[in-house]
Amino acid sequence: MADSNPTVFGKILRGEIDAPRVYEDEYCIAFKDLQPQAPVHLLVIPRLHLAGLNEADAGQEALLGHLLLVAAQVAKEAGLAAWRTVINTGAEAGQTVFHLHLHVIGGRTLSWPPG
Ligand code: 5GP
Repeated sequence: MADSNPTVFGKILRGEIDAPRVYEDEYCIAFKDLQPQAPVHLLVIPRLHLAGLNEADAGQEALLGHLLLVAAQVAKEAGLAAWRTVINTGAEAGQTVFHLHLHVIGGRTLSWPPG
């Protein structure tokens, strides 16, 4: 099972590479993005390896809701009153790590639409 999640987030979950964690529970962890795009840039990932939102089904309904609530919690704990939550799904949409993750981005004015 050691290689069942070969992504960099699998390595973070297993402690094989370091990431500054800001939250963890039995379902997910949250940590700081290596290349922050804003003063606050956190990632919330499930412990379950789903390649992306496209892989999720009704069996993950509660997990997906939990991830959103954790995203709001870590955003508020980081001092944000406004933030953006992003899930890139597929390479063409900007996904580079194929382990589902929610970006929590804030601390500066964010324009819309995104590029
Ligand atoms: P994506 O482009 O897949 O939506 O987002 C992947 C994110 O993971 C990027 O923002 C990238 O900076 C972040 N990332 C990639 N490798 C690492 C790493 O080793 N550590 C941390 N903390 N973040 C990473």
